[in-house]
Amino acid sequence: MARDPQQKQTQFSIVYLLLAFWALILLQEAYFAFQHLDEVPYSQFKTWVTDDKVDEVAITDQTIKGKLKPDQVEVPPQWFQTVRVHDPNLVELLEEHGVKYAGVVVSTLWKDVASWVIPILIFAGIWYWIFRKLGQGQGGFMRIGQSKAKIYVEKEIPIRFSDVAGVDEAKDELKEVVAFLKTPERFTRIGGRIPKGILLVGPPGTGKTLLAKAVAGEAGVPFFTISGSEFVEMFVGVGAARVRDLFEQAKGKAPCIIFIDELDALGKARGTGPMTHEEREQTLNQLLVEMDGFDTNSGVVILAATNRPEILDQALQRAGRFDRQVLVDRPDRKGRQDILSLHVKAVTLAPDVDLENIAAMTPGMAGADLANVINEAALLAVRRERDAVTQHDLEEAVERVVAGLEKRNRVLRKAERERVAHHEVGHALVALSMPGADPVQKISIVPRGVAALGYTLQLPAEDRFLLTKSELEDRIAVLLGGRAAEELVYGEVSTGAHDDLVKATQVAKQMVKGYGMSKQLGPVALEESEHPTFLKQFEHASPGHYSEETAKEIDREVRQIIETQQSRAKDILKVYNEKLVEAAKVLIDREVITGEELHAIVLPS
Ligand code: ADP
Ligand code: MG
Ligand code: ZN
Repeated sequence: MARDPQQKQTQFSIVYLLLAFWALILLQEAYFAFQHLDEVPYSQFKTWVTDDKVDEVAITDQTIKGKLKPDQVEVPPQWFQTVRVHDPNLVELLEEHGVKYAGVVVSTLWKDVASWVIPILIFAGIWYWIFRKLGQGQGGFMRIGQSKAKIYVEKEIPIRFSDVAGVDEAKDELKEVVAFLKTPERFTRIGGRIPKGILLVGPPGTGKTLLAKAVAGEAGVPFFTISGSEFVEMFVGVGAARVRDLFEQAKGKAPCIIFIDELDALGKARGTGPMTHEEREQTLNQLLVEMDGFDTNSGVVILAATNRPEILDQALQRAGRFDRQVLVDRPDRKGRQDILSLHVKAVTLAPDVDLENIAAMTPGMAGADLANVINEAALLAVRRERDAVTQHDLEEAVERVVAGLEKRNRVLRKAERERVAHHEVGHALVALSMPGADPVQKISIVPRGVAALGYTLQLPAEDRFLLTKSELEDRIAVLLGGRAAEELVYGEVSTGAHDDLVKATQVAKQMVKGYGMSKQLGPVALEESEHPTFLKQFEHASPGHYSEETAKEIDREVRQIIETQQSRAKDILKVYNEKLVEAAKVLIDREVITGEELHAIVLPS
């Protein structure tokens, strides 16, 4: 929004008023000024008056301008001007001879005022204009505090959920938000509460921005979007003012959506990083204040997106703020095929195109990468002067995009994917056979960033506040299951098991040092934990106070635990060897399988 139109109007009417005055003065002057004035001596003028030749005069403080009576003019011009001299009897004389006269002293006063005011106005106008120009270039120099959030009105958001593919879980969660925005009354009447803030979390290019727009598009509500990086402005206090302004605008348009893209740029944990500056902190604080300061039922839903949730300030994720997270993950094979199908709508395809095949070729790619593949393929086809994109174009495009991705991302070779699949199934199978392990939700070999090549997602069936010794042992066994599977299938382990090993060792150490679960060492806490909640803060194990001998004993005990669990995991996998291979095959093919599907493979009914 530009500046307050009302303010602008008043400003302009003052300018016009002054200009009008000035014009009036000029007109009055012009009555005489535009005539050819004959300069005459004062004595001549006086003679004319005495001879009754003068019709009218205008007296200013320095001059007298006048007009002769038409019938009295022998020689034009009719108009004259003379220097005014001090003559107290002039008025009397004029009256006596019936000359119309007017003192135009006032006009010179106005002229004086105008000679001051007009240049000032002109100067101010130029100044204003220059700064306006400057402001446009730099994103609102004069509108610094104004939010740059763009408002999209309904017709401008043509994006629907059908334009987003491969992220069905995220879509399902966001459908609720759409329902709320469409008919808030229905929710508020039964006392329902929709979360105030929803955080879309996922790797770059997976469609977070797209999803947020789709929510607004589906609900048909205004969409205010601003990027976290835009908030960080050059002057302290500006970002905070922006946030205030953004919420102000949004509240006036409820129901609506505020979308903060790249929240991490703004919401970085306070007091961390080299770039900690006051500005970001103020802006963040303002955001927290605004989020706390309005009622969910006001109909404003705040969406935000980030690909680095781990660096966000904890305060942002507290209840009443971004208290719900929606994972927007990289798509699996089926999802990739759907995304490809969406994006090929814009191009002409040759009959030989097999998108299923392309989907199989592109593990680890996000939606944006796939869109890129289609685009590259179309470019290739054009370059080769074909009128349709062929399978070959697509394959070549995949290679190009992969080459670009390899620099920043891991795209796995086939052999690596197979190993990762066996590894993950190893975890899952051990988990499946351990009574104390959390149930397996999902196994995936869709790469997630550089660190995790695959993952097995276990979700506790219920909230746990206490864990028994055997449950901890089960956890260690599950952690070592991946490694055990690799050993079993390939005869040796790989570097991929490093992370598991670190975690397993941490749990074992915690058992020995923190919970007194070792028979050798007895029920002694060998470290003081600041965090009584176990398994949460392994990293923060503080150095304990014990002898070197005890330290050796701890090491021995830890090794003992790990080895025992390692062989337990191996034994289980040996029993299930065939199933392990079978399940891995399915996983390689589909990239993601659920715990139930695994169950069906292992224990076919
Ligand atoms: P993010 O915000 O997660 O980084 P974007 O929403 O900006 O990703 O996605 C960039 C582009 O990639 C989109 O405009 C769209 O063309 C394409 N894209 C990404 N994800 C998907 C998806 N799930 N379905 C369809 N297109 C997608
Ligand atoms: Mg984005
Ligand atoms: Zn593992």
